[in-house]
Amino acid sequence: MNSAAARIESVRSALSHTDIDALVITPGAELRYLTGSAAHPSERLTALVVPRQGAPVLIVPTLERPAAELLGLDSAGVALYDHGDGADAFGAVTALLRERLGRPAALVAVSERMWAAHWHGLTGAAPELRMALAETVLAPMRMVKSEDEVAELAAAAAAIDGVHRRMGEWLRPGRTEAQVARDIAAAIVESGHSEVSFVIVASGPNGASPHHAVSDRIVQAGEPVVVDIGGTLASGYGSDCTRTYSVGEPEPEFTALYRILRHAQQTGVAAVAPGTTAEAVDAATREVIETAGYGEYFTHRTGHGIGLDGHEPPYIVAGDTTVLAPGMTFSIEPGVYVPGRFGARIEDIVVCTETGVRRLNTLSTDLVIL
Ligand code: ZN
Ligand code: ZN
Repeated sequence: MNSAAARIESVRSALSHTDIDALVITPGAELRYLTGSAAHPSERLTALVVPRQGAPVLIVPTLERPAAELLGLDSAGVALYDHGDGADAFGAVTALLRERLGRPAALVAVSERMWAAHWHGLTGAAPELRMALAETVLAPMRMVKSEDEVAELAAAAAAIDGVHRRMGEWLRPGRTEAQVARDIAAAIVESGHSEVSFVIVASGPNGASPHHAVSDRIVQAGEPVVVDIGGTLASGYGSDCTRTYSVGEPEPEFTALYRILRHAQQTGVAAVAPGTTAEAVDAATREVIETAGYGEYFTHRTGHGIGLDGHEPPYIVAGDTTVLAPGMTFSIEPGVYVPGRFGARIEDIVVCTETGVRRLNTLSTDLVIL
């Protein structure tokens, strides 16, 4: 059985334990996970419809049918249906569901990121239709990665580690964050990623803004600089790694803070093991920073799952009671942000293993002084 067939079969078996009539999956990570399709969302409807009974169908615009045929989904028992411009694609979905179920569909689970215009179209064709999120069915499957998926994430991690190792080529006093970021972006592609996902270069006080992107601020000697970067491989799996650099000798207060942060990050990584919970890993990480008196400066969760989406379950945060299992992949990325002064973050992607944890990023977490 190929992976599309196995994954769609798992969906159908999960659906049988719910009152959901069908999954309706539009382009994005969920569609890619189930079919391999990397189609982009557009006003023309592309949707995989997996009813609780009867054959699944991939609905595509006619002009994308040749690309859809290349997916080889017939071997997974998925039929193809194409609609020309001007045809009623939403009516086709509701008619298909009526035919498969023997009655109108009442509840469908849709992609988290289905365009509102598409949901509007579907309920225009079937006003009684109610919506659930496909994530309730798919997240438990997607959270546990196969060996092939872990291998892709490890390859992405190795590639981004290589970019961090070259940071001294670009990050120097007198250059702007934007200049440094342009060089990093080129290196992300050179390192084997097919595209750049994001580049954060946050110097000095900008480091206190966790999602600062880049600016024209000039990096000054003696400043810490938070560099959080990631790219996506052709397979759709990506990297996400943060290191904090010091451009010249840092202030003693920053060095002390960094030591606490590093201890917290190492504690978080070490807390990962099958059977523990996502929120317990967050608590272990956070406790180190709170005990040192910097708790108020750690303003976000400890981490997020990563796979075909850059952020996906499990979330390493209080309230996420997901029990960690071998194959789950996520970031451990505590940070400390002192407004007006500086910030620091250390981020690695890890995988929960049978016996504990494996870091996919293998860079040192020592403070690098450039
Ligand atoms: Zn990151
Ligand atoms: Zn991250």
